[in-house]
Amino acid sequence: MGAYFTICSLVYILIFIFFFFSKGSVVNTETKIYKVLIITTAIGLIFDILGYVLYITGYPIKSVLYFFIVKTELLYFVAWIFAFTFYIYVISYNKKSGDYKIKHFRKVYHYLLLIFAFLAFIVYVLPVSFIDTGKVVFPQGAAVAGTYLIAIACIIACVSFAIKNRKNIIIAKYSPLFAMIISIIVVIVIQRLFPDLFLINFCLSIVIVILYFTIENPDLKMITELNIAKTQAEKANQAKTDFLSSMSHEIRTPLNAITGFSEALKEEPDLPERAKEDINDILMASESLLEIVNGVLDISKIEANKLEIVNSNYNPYKIFHELITLTKSRIGEKPIELIVNIDETIPKVLYGDHTRVKQVILNVLTNAAKYTNSGSITFTVNSLIKGEICRLIVSVEDTGIGIKRDKIDKLFDKFERLEEDRNTTIEGTGLGLAITKRLVQLMHGELIVQSIYGKGSKFTIVLEQRIVNDPKLENTFEFQKSVSSKEKQPLNKKVLVVDDNKLNIKVASRLLEDYGLTVDSCYSGSECLEKINSTTYDLIFMDDMMPKMTGTQTLHKLKEIPNFHTPVVVLTANAIAGMEEKYLGEGFDGYLPKPIERKALDLIINKYLNNV
Ligand code: ADP
Repeated sequence: MGAYFTICSLVYILIFIFFFFSKGSVVNTETKIYKVLIITTAIGLIFDILGYVLYITGYPIKSVLYFFIVKTELLYFVAWIFAFTFYIYVISYNKKSGDYKIKHFRKVYHYLLLIFAFLAFIVYVLPVSFIDTGKVVFPQGAAVAGTYLIAIACIIACVSFAIKNRKNIIIAKYSPLFAMIISIIVVIVIQRLFPDLFLINFCLSIVIVILYFTIENPDLKMITELNIAKTQAEKANQAKTDFLSSMSHEIRTPLNAITGFSEALKEEPDLPERAKEDINDILMASESLLEIVNGVLDISKIEANKLEIVNSNYNPYKIFHELITLTKSRIGEKPIELIVNIDETIPKVLYGDHTRVKQVILNVLTNAAKYTNSGSITFTVNSLIKGEICRLIVSVEDTGIGIKRDKIDKLFDKFERLEEDRNTTIEGTGLGLAITKRLVQLMHGELIVQSIYGKGSKFTIVLEQRIVNDPKLENTFEFQKSVSSKEKQPLNKKVLVVDDNKLNIKVASRLLEDYGLTVDSCYSGSECLEKINSTTYDLIFMDDMMPKMTGTQTLHKLKEIPNFHTPVVVLTANAIAGMEEKYLGEGFDGYLPKPIERKALDLIINKYLNNV
């Protein structure tokens, strides 16, 4: 009868061991100690049963084997309680971070092993005697007393660790300790009443089970599966980003042809009025398409964390001036008044990412123009200057359709358009505000929305920019007044267009011929280098993404030629923000993004050919 509990416990623990080890677990200090505990328990139980079997088969109690079994049982008890104390120490050590890394405990662990070896030695050396009740046999003597003393010392240590860590205590984590103390008390009481029952190992087995549920033991299989799923999701997201950016890039080339030829056609004399209107519509549609392509490129860059803020000195007034012009053209014929209040104390030159500053403000201004049918749009820019920092507070208030209160949070989700049914006539992708919000965050600014449904909305953007001194930039916003191709005088100049795409060459040539220029072309960097040997050009337009030798590589080769002074302008579909600075940094004299805009071309021609 006395061994029944022990046998049951052993069966139970063996099943548990099988279950625990076959499942696999993350190796941390907790699980390591747990493995020691669970195996020690099993060994202890086996020795218990062995002792009992020897006893009932009438094996002499005073034999060496019996002596060895009893001592090993005591040792097992010491080992168990020691490992358990170490466990409580570990969980009390750094509860806040939940970090039970093995390396923190290596030193303690070594000391503990030494102490354990010393105690084991004492337990083995101290004498032991036996009391035979006729049904079971109890060990007694100094070895047993020593073991109990060690156990009591360990329990006191456990409780003091728990008390020391009381501020961060997580009751569930310490439940094995409480369970052990309570069950030991219960066992002592029961053992007094029924001396034949052998319960101490049974009680340790219960603690083992409770411990299982309290250790941090994430399922390895699940973690592996989650990791695989995570990698797959990341790969898929990357593939999406790559696809979007290459597609957007590819769309630019045909788009360049559409806008380029339309721009050229528009300049044709004697064009019927209807054809002119159609061309304008084609140009407007291309512009929207380009906006979408740029938006998709921007959002994919942002999501891939590849979008960088490129800071430089700029004149904010130039930006405001451009924004006003663009907004006026967006408002078009609508009965909307554009009210502008620009604080004149804003410094003339600031340091920041002017392309992005312009982009975010333009976005809210464009939205105001899009979602307002009549009334006014108030564009206000205030500034707060603190030392060398200028805090720009830009607000755009409209008397438009407004946004429902519960929809405001959704505004910044990508591809999210509110009330599509109501806005069917208004073009948009739902990307604008998602990009604006992320760009403002990247510039460490703020974007605030206030809106009353049916009355109007107010978008406020707060950006901090550094104030700098750069006299060169103080008046630059006047330089918009360039010579347009309409006012052109035939220019007796020669330009070279280098592009691997025939259609692109055709578009560029068509546009450049309008200025009365002689246009020569070639399809690769090496051809360009050959041409330079025999002919002198006044200006070179160079595509960058060409096979074999890129435009940038060709430029570097050109610069090595002695007495080469021809300005080289990069003509590229790689037109995301930050690219201009990159290309200028490479040594290009100018930057013209595809699709070519007439105005931008005007500026380049004006700068490099008119004034030469
Ligand atoms: P979209 O390309 O659709 O304009 P945005 O991300 O810029 O995308 O805006 C998301 C949605 O927020 C719009 O579809 C519109 O419903 C709403 N919205 C944005 N600005 C305004 C505004 N000034 N007034 C009313 N609704 C607006």
